[in-house]
Amino acid sequence: MRYVSTRGAAPTLGFDEAMLTGLARDGGLYVPETVPTLSPDEIAALSGVSYEEAAYRVIRPFIGDSFTDDELRGAIERAYARFGHAARAPIVQLAPNHFLLELFHGPTLAFKDFAMQLIGQLFQIALARDGRRITIVGATSGDTGSAAIEAFRGLPNVDVFILFPEGRVSDVQRRQMTTPDEDNVHALAIQGDFDDAQARVKDMFNHFEFRDSVNLAGVNSINWARVLAQVVYYFTSAVSLGAPHRPVSFTVPTGNFGDIYAGHVARRMGLPIDRLVIATNQNDILHRCLTTGEYRPDGVKPSISPSMDIQVSSNFERALFDAYGRDGKAVAQLMDELKRNGAFSVSQGAGEALREVFDSGRVSEDQTLATIARIRRSTGQLVCPHTAVGIAVAELRHDPAVPMITLATAHPAKFPDAVEQATGERPALPDRMSDLFSRPERVTSVPNDLSAIENLIQQRRRR
Ligand SMILES: *Cc1c(COP(=O)(O)O)cnc(C)c1O
Repeated sequence: MRYVSTRGAAPTLGFDEAMLTGLARDGGLYVPETVPTLSPDEIAALSGVSYEEAAYRVIRPFIGDSFTDDELRGAIERAYARFGHAARAPIVQLAPNHFLLELFHGPTLAFKDFAMQLIGQLFQIALARDGRRITIVGATSGDTGSAAIEAFRGLPNVDVFILFPEGRVSDVQRRQMTTPDEDNVHALAIQGDFDDAQARVKDMFNHFEFRDSVNLAGVNSINWARVLAQVVYYFTSAVSLGAPHRPVSFTVPTGNFGDIYAGHVARRMGLPIDRLVIATNQNDILHRCLTTGEYRPDGVKPSISPSMDIQVSSNFERALFDAYGRDGKAVAQLMDELKRNGAFSVSQGAGEALREVFDSGRVSEDQTLATIARIRRSTGQLVCPHTAVGIAVAELRHDPAVPMITLATAHPAKFPDAVEQATGERPALPDRMSDLFSRPERVTSVPNDLSAIENLIQQRRRR
């Protein structure tokens, strides 16, 4: 199995190299050269097996000879062992023929754990083979950084440094980053905002002398291995509602497009998905692009579903690559246009191709709050604001004859202020992390200064 870049000008790579590299050298994203399929019988046979076994069967065909069967099985077992639910990704019913897929039972209470925990294990196996060490550096506005720290804590061949804007993440998010006590974990509070943190990380990747001296690596959402890990729960949830014998639909609270693109991959592997619905908050660039054909970032408007507050949706490039008949030159041209003119228009043919596979909707802040309150009244359940965006859009786009599955992307206790504002109730943390607020914190405050941060990383990383 080989991986090609969406811009068509980078070398093709095997699975492990594509995973360790992240972004392709031509600026594109890696995608599999061909998408393997599962037959209806193979899909039906996923019914009743453990989440780990289903993950193995879905992921295996993409790996080639990068990992042995035993290595992959071991990585999957370790990745999900610390989840707080035996089903890993359970579904609950919300309304007639409308279901919630709970993706928040991992260690940091958001769906990113599904991918990050697995790539932590796969990175460690690949690095240990030739005794390589890497330094992972990332910027976070909250969810990604905590998921990365949880995934890489204690791994012998990896040091992880996460920059977050001082004073601008929630208490739960900060404590998830500052309480792990392993000496390969470093939470850095930068004196600046998220854009500063992200800019300094970018600077480090562009500073080749530093980059090479610490073997810098990234694990942001464009990493193909992260997308792949997310394909699994589309299969497990659809099968438990009757696939492949009947189709199901999905609605996905969307930001960087990684999660919903995984649904697109599941469909191309043979899973009968009827509608695949992009749900956006007031940062609705994807909904606008699908309905008007124009992709035009117009500034982030901070919302109560902050993990979906995006300007540019990076994984959308993978969908464009498919919509343009896998023409890397055409995609490179669009991205160039975006850089030069701040926008691009998709061709009529590509627009039609996109609308054939994706449906979309957006909801306002008021609708999101109203949805949290209404779901509390109608089911007794509290949902996080991202999930509420998904539910509200799903209701707009639901064909009552087809089961609709909305992805619940985070636990309500991760966003307690919005939930309390909507319902008057403050959601409690699950029992297994009830001591989060009594654990000691470890954090280093750093100035918004590249060389100061680089020096700190040089000193702290293990050799
Ligand atoms: C990251 C995130 C999203 C957006 O997912 P993408 O894959 O970036 O589209 C939605 N909800 C929550 C809670 C998240 O953490």
